[in-house]
Amino acid sequence: CGIVGYIGTQAATEILLAGLEKLEYRGYDSAGLATIWEGEVNCVRAKGKLHNLRSKVENLETPAPIGIGHTRWATHGKPEEYNAHPHMNTAMRVAVVQNGIVENYRELREELKSQGYEFLSDTDTEVIPHLIAQFLKEEKALGGESNFDSPFFEAVRKTVNQLTGAFALAVVCADYPDELIVVRQQAPLVIGFGQGEFFCASDTPAILSHTRAVLPLDNGEIARLTPLGVEVYDFNARRLKKHPRMLNMNP
Ligand code: GLU
Repeated sequence: CGIVGYIGTQAATEILLAGLEKLEYRGYDSAGLATIWEGEVNCVRAKGKLHNLRSKVENLETPAPIGIGHTRWATHGKPEEYNAHPHMNTAMRVAVVQNGIVENYRELREELKSQGYEFLSDTDTEVIPHLIAQFLKEEKALGGESNFDSPFFEAVRKTVNQLTGAFALAVVCADYPDELIVVRQQAPLVIGFGQGEFFCASDTPAILSHTRAVLPLDNGEIARLTPLGVEVYDFNARRLKKHPRMLNMNP
């Protein structure tokens, strides 16, 4: 129900937890976050209130400067920890948070299962990390012959072209610690621009304590956030010219 993401130079964990607290008003039944540090994805999830997540995260805090977080309002699968986001493909170390619903998840799930992918949740979301993993393997096999310089971005872009429904996504991968990929398709997603750091969230209150420079994505847009900047594309990989606007809080 609520997404947050961070990439930059500060420790992401506290920024993500604070952002999720700002999205509490949207309602949720469980929460989780994933950060990338020293080549590993650290994924922590908890049923119930955010302080459950916070107390689980406390012993594991790292200076990881990239991560994603989620508050879940269950649509597919019980509100249990194993259904909480982020969902992962552990082999390719991809972690995904999603708002909304993947309408065609049943067909995708059957197809992926027949190819040997193991599902650990009852959610519609879990097809996404596995599809990304599959495309990422293909992109890596192309060995740089892809027409885009980021195999990870390409894998996420190809994946969203397979999905129907209304959703917003934030995705990280341990092999690409300088990239946070976000997607908007009929569910809200805003990007916040800082100095050498960038934020994303389902709604502006989650990022306003960091920056007033905000770019709301439009439907059918996918963005690549790195510590150097933000690139926005359509789902066909056409680059779009987009600039943040300054929100004036004291009109
Ligand atoms: N459909 C997803 C799920 O049930 C995401 C729900 C949400 O937006 O929180 O896990």
